[in-house]
Amino acid sequence: MTELFQLLQSSPLAFTVMCGVLGLMVGSFLNVVIHRLPKMMEMEWRQQCAELSHVNADDHQTAAEKCHPGKPEHNSGINPESVPGRPYNLIVPRSSCPHCNHVISAWENIPIVSYLLLRGKCKGCGVKISPRYPVIEAASGILCAYAAWHFGFGWAAAGALLLVWSLLALTVIDFDTQLLPDDITLPLLWAGLLFNMFGVFTSLSGAVLGAIIGYLALWIVYWLFKLATSKEGMGYGDFKLLAALGAWLGWQMLPLIILLSSLAGAVVGITMIMALKHGRNIPIPFGPYLAGGGLVALFWGQVLTQQYLQILGQP
Ligand SMILES: [Zn+2]
Repeated sequence: MTELFQLLQSSPLAFTVMCGVLGLMVGSFLNVVIHRLPKMMEMEWRQQCAELSHVNADDHQTAAEKCHPGKPEHNSGINPESVPGRPYNLIVPRSSCPHCNHVISAWENIPIVSYLLLRGKCKGCGVKISPRYPVIEAASGILCAYAAWHFGFGWAAAGALLLVWSLLALTVIDFDTQLLPDDITLPLLWAGLLFNMFGVFTSLSGAVLGAIIGYLALWIVYWLFKLATSKEGMGYGDFKLLAALGAWLGWQMLPLIILLSSLAGAVVGITMIMALKHGRNIPIPFGPYLAGGGLVALFWGQVLTQQYLQILGQP
């Protein structure tokens, strides 16, 4: 064990490869989180809603009707993968094909390799497996390997991996559901403050100010936008995500993150409205852009901020 430790410490290549492999394996778990966490949240909301309206919580359908009176449910409201009375969380039940319920065996769970061996089809029924699964695994593997190479063996690399995984999960969940779960954003914020108690990415005061200013910055934009247009431009999840990024990277990185994510958001938004006739009123999730801006700031923030401060400093 100490030999492995020494190898990782002395060889940047070994450390990069190990983090890349770890990234692939965690990427496989992120696919489960991305798929199940929104379902778990919805089940919890339905249960709370049922309790509030004094309906037996087991009777999902009636509860759903009471929660949305007069609004027909397009599905029964019951998560098709969960059996009533059985636990449904990130660990159980085991992953299975949504089409034929074929339980995914250990070798079919090997990141990317299994997808290639199965030629992108379920072993049970031959239905196509979404290429999204190997893409997310590959993204996690590549980002983790890069983080290891960039930061080298130490706490900064460990923190960067945690941040990469959280941002990846939040990006896809927000893209799918327009939600940024508190179950990820809030622990991410606390973890950032904890790491920076030891000054891993920034000073503790920089991190605390980063969390507060990050939250307030978008909160103010939200209310100005709402007062001006009486529409909601973004959600509270966005404020919490920027607060978390501030806690990790310090308030000094917030202007860069906001600038990058607004630019990217504007470019993609305008392109979508023009090319796809994407309705102007359909919400475009902002979380993926914040997460992307956060990743850029994590890896190249210092260099970029120095450069734009230099440009601003020119007479
Ligand atoms: Zn199947």
